Order: sequence, then C-alpha cells, then structure tokens
Amino acid sequence: MEVFKTKEALKAYLKPLKAAGKKVAVVPTMGALHNGHISLIKLAQEHADVIICSIFVNPTQFTDPKDLEKYPRPIDHDLAMLKDAGCDGVFMPGVEEMYPTGADENWHIDLGKAEFLLEGEFRKGHYQGVTQIVKKLFDAVEPDIAMFGQKDFQQVLMIKTMVAHFNLRVSIITCPIIREDDGLAMSSRNIHLTAADRKNALVLSKSLQYVIDNFDSFSLKELEESAKSFYKNIEGVELDYFTIANGHNLEPAKSKAEDNLVALAAAKVGSTRLIDNMIIK
Ligand code: AMP
Repeated sequence: MEVFKTKEALKAYLKPLKAAGKKVAVVPTMGALHNGHISLIKLAQEHADVIICSIFVNPTQFTDPKDLEKYPRPIDHDLAMLKDAGCDGVFMPGVEEMYPTGADENWHIDLGKAEFLLEGEFRKGHYQGVTQIVKKLFDAVEPDIAMFGQKDFQQVLMIKTMVAHFNLRVSIITCPIIREDDGLAMSSRNIHLTAADRKNALVLSKSLQYVIDNFDSFSLKELEESAKSFYKNIEGVELDYFTIANGHNLEPAKSKAEDNLVALAAAKVGSTRLIDNMIIK
C-alpha cells in the first residue's frame, strides 16, 4: 500500500494506472477508522480497480474548534486497517497541502435549501466546508467513483448537489450504515462515549427502529412524537432533532405516501454529538 502526502505524488502514481484503463475509486475519510469505513473500501473494490482512501481532518467543516482539536487521529492503527483491507493507496495531506493560501480561502456554492436544514442548522457552514474539501479531493484524484456512507445522509445529498454544480463526471455511491451488534451506528466519535453514554447512545437506533417497525400503524405526527419521547428523561442525552423527512430534499415529510422517506436523528450523548438515520422507503 502506497502512502502519499502530496497531490503531485498521488497524481504521478495514478497517471499510468488510468492510462492503462484502470477504474479509480476514492473513499474520503477523516481517519479514526472503524468497520464502517472498511465497508466502503470493500464496496469500492467491487466497483473499481484502484482504491484510494483519503485521511484528512478538514478544518473548514468544523464549527467548534474544540471538536476539531479533540478529533481522534490514530494514524498507525488506520494505516494497518487499510493495508489489511487491501486498499491500494492512502492520501494523507497536511492542511497546507489542501489549503496553500490558508484555511480561510474563499469558497461558496449554492447547495439549495437543504444546506440549512438538520445538520446545517446545528453546524453553520458545515456543508460549505465539506463540499470545499471534497471538490479539492476530486480534483486531486479525478476518480471514476466515490464512496460515501448513508450514515451521513445529508452529506451525500450535498455532495451530489456539488457534483451537479460543477458537472463532474464522478459517480457517487452510497453505502449502507454499519452498526455494532446492539444497533449503535459505528462512528469515530463513539470512542468518546463513557460506559453510561454508550448505553444511552442506543436511544438513537432504537427510536429510529421504532419508526420503521410502526410505520404502517400510526400517522407521521404520532410516529415522530413517540420517537421523540424515547429521549425524555435520559440523563445526559439532549435531542437536537428527530424528523421524518423527504429523502430528496430533507423537508419534513408531508404524507406517508411520498416515495422517498427517511427518519433522521441527532443528539448529544454526554459530551459527544451523534447522528443516525434509517431509510423508511
Ligand atoms: P468520516 O471519517 O466520519 O468523515 O466518514 C467517512 C465516510 O465513512 C463517510 O462517507 C461516512 O458516511 C462513512 N461512514 C461513517 N460511519 C459509517 C458507518 N457506521 N457505516 C458506513 N459508513 C460510515
């Protein structure tokens, strides 16, 4: 497995492979890898010949400097996991490689109304930062396909909007959420959970599963209200949102008959903010 710190070295590696007709996939991550990330690598291997995983904790997508600072960076562990998974190349640039003129460089694109809903409401400017770094990554790799997790449902929507905005030729593939045995969605942030938080964190997957299991029996309003009641009276848990939304635009669902419905939740568990979702249909 090759490791690249610069765009130049990465491009030099990819050039002959592309010339030989190899299909290239990129798997963007912020590191602190778990089996959710590895599932993206494995799925990429089914679709492409050369798999590049990027590890970059992108400063422009963090609204809280403390969150950026405490983001885990277990690089040796990450490289061992990627090697084991059969990843071909790892791109791990420094901040100055991606932002040569500084992380305050100008970037703004129209991502539509969905940018400001859900995560966008709680993390101002987050999707500008996400699309900014993913565009830079796509420019560096020029991949045929790019893998993103359904875990960050809104992120996939925003990336697709960015791809359409620039008319890029990359195909975006959405990968299913990988969960722990008890239902907790895997996340790099889970290591911050205390033993009590870890138990309490199950409220996200349980409340989402409740909606899936009871969808046919209740109205949208009843489903949402019951799901929200799961979060009441759990010490140290603070619900940011629970919504049943239209999966195309993330607006609150108006009718159960809509063709693409998803339940999404975000909550602070102890000092850790977690998100999760389940597709209803
Ligand atoms: P991150 O390192 O958190 O930015 O995540 C990198 C990619 O892995 C994103 O596309 C995430 O949606 C995806 N991902 C994170 N957690 C999971 C999971 N539990 N299952 C599947 N994909 C995931």
